[in-house]
Amino acid sequence: MPTITIELDDLTSESGEKERHELPGRFEVCPRCEGEGRHVHEAIDGNGITSSEFAEWDADDRETYLAGGYDVTCSVCRGLRVVAIVDEALLTEAQRAVYERHLADEQDAARERAADRFTRWQESGGVS
Ligand SMILES: [Zn+2]
Repeated sequence: MPTITIELDDLTSESGEKERHELPGRFEVCPRCEGEGRHVHEAIDGNGITSSEFAEWDADDRETYLAGGYDVTCSVCRGLRVVAIVDEALLTEAQRAVYERHLADEQDAARERAADRFTRWQESGGVS
């Protein structure tokens, strides 16, 4: 059983230290590569190529693609084919509180990134 280490801001620390918590986890088939451990390089196949794009390639490129020549080790599981996720069923009450703080932190971080993007977009002349 994997252990997931989560870092949270230590609310009692003024120097920005982190609290570390270990939570029980389980392995799940990697959602990015679906258990293959590899996927086609994002630069080539970010969202899957369309048949019209494929038709524009020359025969060599198509052959390389179909043979997996553009595959890279999965960027999410690093080739392990599985990812460790927190197993919510196994959390104690205290661990659940930690996990919920962690999820809230991640949401905050995502919101901040989105707000940053919006600010940059406005500063670069975007119309609000
Ligand atoms: Zn993967």
